[in-house]
Amino acid sequence: MRVSRATVFRTLEAFARVGLVSKACHPGSSARYDRRVDRHHHLVCLVCDRVTDVDDARLDVLPVPDTRRFGFTVSDFRVQLRGTCRECREQEEKR
Ligand SMILES: [Zn+2]
Ligand SMILES: [Zn+2]
Repeated sequence: MRVSRATVFRTLEAFARVGLVSKACHPGSSARYDRRVDRHHHLVCLVCDRVTDVDDARLDVLPVPDTRRFGFTVSDFRVQLRGTCRECREQEEKR
């Protein structure tokens, strides 16, 4: 079955609205979707854009700043640890 990208995108948007997937914001690329909706964090490779889920209790309890002055209520957060993944680092080392 062939499904257009637009259809996939609309479906994922709908899933995100009802909490079946969560939108993972990712710098420099379009919206990504994450099948995990529980709190977890991301390792983001700046070379290949790979996103790896990480669980770390210390990240779960980071103090969230007071955002009331922005009129904003925080309901969840994710930490993005940005850097270079193993594969990309190995590629770099070979050069
Ligand atoms: Zn990489
Ligand atoms: Zn994730």
